[in-house]
Amino acid sequence: MGFVRGLKCRECGREYPVDPIYVCEFCFGPLEVVYDYDGIKKVLTKEKILSRPQNLWRYKELLPIDGEPTVGLHSGFTPLVRAKKLAEHLGMKELYIKDDTVTHPTLSFKDRVVAVALSKAKEFGFDTVACASTGNLAHSVSAHGAAAGLKRYIFIPATLEQSKIVASLAYGPNLIAVDGNYDDVNRLCSEVANKHNWAFVNINIRPFYAEGSKTQGYEIIEQLGWKTPDAVVVPCASGSLLTKIWKSFKEMKEIGIIDNVNTKVFSAQATGCSPIVAAIKEGTDVIRPVKPDTIAKSLAIGNPADGYYATQVIKETGGFGADVSDAEIIDAIKLLAETEGIFAETAGGVTLASAMKLIDSGHISKGDVTVLCITGNGLKTKEAIEGHTGEPHHIDPNLKSFEEVLKKITSA
Ligand SMILES: *Cc1c(COP(=O)(O)O)cnc(C)c1O
Ligand SMILES: [Zn+2]
Repeated sequence: MGFVRGLKCRECGREYPVDPIYVCEFCFGPLEVVYDYDGIKKVLTKEKILSRPQNLWRYKELLPIDGEPTVGLHSGFTPLVRAKKLAEHLGMKELYIKDDTVTHPTLSFKDRVVAVALSKAKEFGFDTVACASTGNLAHSVSAHGAAAGLKRYIFIPATLEQSKIVASLAYGPNLIAVDGNYDDVNRLCSEVANKHNWAFVNINIRPFYAEGSKTQGYEIIEQLGWKTPDAVVVPCASGSLLTKIWKSFKEMKEIGIIDNVNTKVFSAQATGCSPIVAAIKEGTDVIRPVKPDTIAKSLAIGNPADGYYATQVIKETGGFGADVSDAEIIDAIKLLAETEGIFAETAGGVTLASAMKLIDSGHISKGDVTVLCITGNGLKTKEAIEGHTGEPHHIDPNLKSFEEVLKKITSA
């Protein structure tokens, strides 16, 4: 048996049993998983964690399943890369990339949340899973769901990047391309979820799904040598990842694995869809929905479900937010690739470009041990930088032709 005590409304505190439900019947607040931390503290030690395979389930007592995990047994435990060259470029002392560009199996952090959501969906007895996606979730539910033997209905905005559409289709799901933006897709999915008894990973399974994001935070602590960073920069779509990284840090303290948490949490968004950062900059708790217009499609949620909670975490921790243009996103993707050899998708460009602004403005100081959450792989959004890179040097298949080109390259 696991250590979940039940679900609890984040607003009024009413408690609910562990069911595929996500919203409070009384106040419509979102439901969240509650754990028996005293019980977890007795069994989950550093030694226990270190003795387990390097995947996200090494923290399974802090995840909302009852039995053994069945999905995503190779997901998580991505590298925490010490980014020395990038740090030097930015004048930072100690900078890290949490590199979820290499998450198994679909190269984005969504493999974490889907591993947990589908393990739970199977425990609930569902045979069909579904989701509303900005791209990476579609890819991950398609893949994890195929391996888990589940039927899949995947809803996406029709204008998604071609690589994400093709990559999702490879696993043979039912892919539904909706003429509308993500917020339209999500609204439609709420109606579909009322009608069909499916596990919608980010609707009726959302309280369980969202917990999977915590594993990125646990790993950061473990990989830093059992301590929290001074600053963490998190790309925000719904705002869920940001709130869960913070929750993971507090939980590690709660169960006695670390002694204190002293981290400022920062939000990164694209200027063309920055409702959370706008609220932070204006100093308000009210999230004003926007119509997204950005190349960072994976972050293009105009009406973020966890936006309010994200602003609370940022305020509580003394963090801040920054938003960046499409041109800044492209430059940052290239900078990360050229300095660290890591090719990130548009969301990664958002994170690095935002971090650079926060360093410039002094919100992150140069001495802060800083972690950038790089959440998806550049091969998935290659159209974003097409035309913004160099070109190959075309030659004839002979040495003379190569030597001519080499002369041009070396004299340039
Ligand atoms: C979904 C996603 C995020 C953030 O998601 P939240 O909804 O804020 O939890 C960040 N990066 C990438 C690449 C994503 O696909
Ligand atoms: Zn409530």
